Amino acid sequence: MSNGLLDFIVTSSLYADYKIETNPELEQLVKICHNEVRFEMFCPICRNKKVFMYDGGIDNSLIKNIWNGLHTIGSINSGYEKYNPLESIEHMYFRFKCSLNECHKLEYVFVRKGNKIIKIGQYPSSADIDIPQASKYSKILGKQYYNELKRSIGLHSHGVGIGSFVYLRRIIEKLVYDTFKEAETTGALTQQQFEYQDDGEHRNGMEEKIKLLKGFLPDMITANPKIYGVVSKGIHELSENECLEYFPVLKDGIVMILDDIVAKKEKERAEAEYKKSLNKIISNLK
Ligand SMILES: [Zn+2]
Repeated sequence: MSNGLLDFIVTSSLYADYKIETNPELEQLVKICHNEVRFEMFCPICRNKKVFMYDGGIDNSLIKNIWNGLHTIGSINSGYEKYNPLESIEHMYFRFKCSLNECHKLEYVFVRKGNKIIKIGQYPSSADIDIPQASKYSKILGKQYYNELKRSIGLHSHGVGIGSFVYLRRIIEKLVYDTFKEAETTGALTQQQFEYQDDGEHRNGMEEKIKLLKGFLPDMITANPKIYGVVSKGIHELSENECLEYFPVLKDGIVMILDDIVAKKEKERAEAEYKKSLNKIISNLK
């Protein structure tokens, strides 16, 4: 979704903040409340991805005021005096409904402090939204890493940055190493090439390793290896906020890799099935 505010509302962890003062945030707020933007999200009741839409929460007259302000020249953007239409607002509450059944809701609450809003609550929790989704990966990850993925999502939903990030990092490392093992069996890469730079001395960081696995990892990941450089940083180099910010990107990367593996396994299964029925017909023909 290209609506930064909406993205913040539905994916941020507790106590994360977002500046909402002028544009484009105010325009994004109007768009959300006018139901001009919808988004896909895992519905914990449908147990599937569904489209969600705005279902109320923000006072209509506030939205009207903001809309008028945005469409009257000289009011908000070039105001002689800084006018903040949210000044009188203490809390913001957003409710979204599932497109399949409007009784399935997502609810989010924010407190306004100065020009920022801070998430102070949501229901269902992002752990409830994310963890059921994770269950389909339990076989690929194995029990230990699957539990770590769940713990990581749970910690992030409670605003724990470094803790959640460390677990996610271990999972990325595991998946990248598993992928290397696969590349090694095809003869595309040796352990030495994977672990060390050309000088044979300096170790490759995560960014280099991901570059080397082009063709074996999803293209979206090998095309943006820089993001994964953060995985190579030591714990003491990471800030709490940096971890919270990187979390969704790394998590989406992990999901992409896992989806890729699921699709490959499904293809192998279908091919084996096909071979079996083919052999049966051939042997019947004899
Ligand atoms: Zn639903």
